[in-house]
Amino acid sequence: MNNHNIKVTNFTNLDAVTYPIIKLIGTIDYEVSVSCQNQTDKNVYLTLNDNSNILITTNVIDNKFKFLVELQRGKNQINIKFCCETMGITLEYFSIKSENSVIPLYVICEGHDGYFQAPPWENNNVESACKRITLCSKLLQCVTAEKLYEHSLGRKTFCLDGDCQVFHSGLNYIEARNMSQVELWEYIGREIMKSELACENKKYLAFLSCTRYWGENYKESMKTHEELLQITQAYVALGGGGLALFGTACLYTWPESFEEIILRFEDQALVDRTQFLDDSCYRGTVGACFSTTLGSVLHELYHTFDLGHTEDGIMSRGFDNIYKVFTRPQSTSHRTNSSHDMTKALTDKIEFKEEFESDSLVERLQNENKRKGYTVISKYEEEVDDTFLTRSCAVLLCYHRWFNQTTSSRQCSLLSFDCFNKLIKSTSGVRVVEIRSKNVELVLYNWTFEGRILKFSFQIPQDVIISLNEDSYIMFVEDTVGCILKEEFSI
Ligand SMILES: [Zn+2]
Ligand SMILES: [Zn+2]
Repeated sequence: MNNHNIKVTNFTNLDAVTYPIIKLIGTIDYEVSVSCQNQTDKNVYLTLNDNSNILITTNVIDNKFKFLVELQRGKNQINIKFCCETMGITLEYFSIKSENSVIPLYVICEGHDGYFQAPPWENNNVESACKRITLCSKLLQCVTAEKLYEHSLGRKTFCLDGDCQVFHSGLNYIEARNMSQVELWEYIGREIMKSELACENKKYLAFLSCTRYWGENYKESMKTHEELLQITQAYVALGGGGLALFGTACLYTWPESFEEIILRFEDQALVDRTQFLDDSCYRGTVGACFSTTLGSVLHELYHTFDLGHTEDGIMSRGFDNIYKVFTRPQSTSHRTNSSHDMTKALTDKIEFKEEFESDSLVERLQNENKRKGYTVISKYEEEVDDTFLTRSCAVLLCYHRWFNQTTSSRQCSLLSFDCFNKLIKSTSGVRVVEIRSKNVELVLYNWTFEGRILKFSFQIPQDVIISLNEDSYIMFVEDTVGCILKEEFSI
């Protein structure tokens, strides 16, 4: 019987993934036929492994359904039921022990009890923090895999080195609260690299327990994000080199368990600014805080994978709507209405500042050298695809050592840039070439080479050279085995 033609559109039977949380999307034909028994039930039901246990239901909207599924290790039998039809798909999850991986950390400063700022009804102890950080790191693995898949690059993603660990810092929490973002990033980075966790094959995704938003100092007149940050201590959102570091002012908006994820994204409760930091990109809800802060973690984590900035997408300011990757699809009619309502809110200016100054850092944290903030204007909230990677970013990740767990990390190649002739050579084949601005590493020009026939050399076209009129730029190159060349050059 095939009355409703249930189709999973982003996976095929027996596909395998290396990360536990997946997004399953598909289509359904919901026209009623003679065999339909219960025509009023428009839900789609998903059961995992054990058929007696209905895991998730979702509404069908515009013939589409979407599920988040937490797979168990090994083969998973997924059944999707709509009305009188059921379809099955088997998907495998296997984790790989990878040399290059990401360690999630919860950093507790000296003298601090490890309780992050939260309303009284939320768990906010160390265990809760670690659960939230671990779960959301898995969500970011899923987003990354889906984004590369959308680029037809396969479901590659980074590996996590176990669950979130506690890292006890020797830095006193009161001192930490009086330090700038850059100072905190440098200090914690240096400390990690002197600790027993130090390993050059690891990136660290760390959250500071002692972030404090002083709501008692909030005034109605405070409108901008900047102003709110002025009454927040130990706020950080910075990534580069081997460390992405964050504050925890909005950690309470993150889910602790898998079942909560969608509800948390959809939480329309307003943030009480006299109590908690509103980091929601001017949307004001608890759910938007989760979305914005999760998106910014992804953006910063991607900097540790050597991505620069782009005009749009995740590596610009296009991460606030990351919730749409996960939440139930909205109907087209609803979309039209709300985009109409949105027109007034469009001109919201968002100050998006990342400061970087890494002169004094330990060697491997030294890769980044950004300074200067920049301003981006928010776009329509209802744009169809507003969480995406540009092509060169996606290809860069695809060949990155943190995304290739097996042999290539041990392979070597000779990669060179002849500045005089603007000629790039790699013995393993050039994959990505980007010319980035020196100040904020904005990708100005990019070339990707993805074919089977390797590109052993590439010369920057003359018309591009002519158009470059700053004193200096950054040349960024990545080759087939993930070797990276990044150097400043002048015209
Ligand atoms: Zn039916
Ligand atoms: Zn950035």
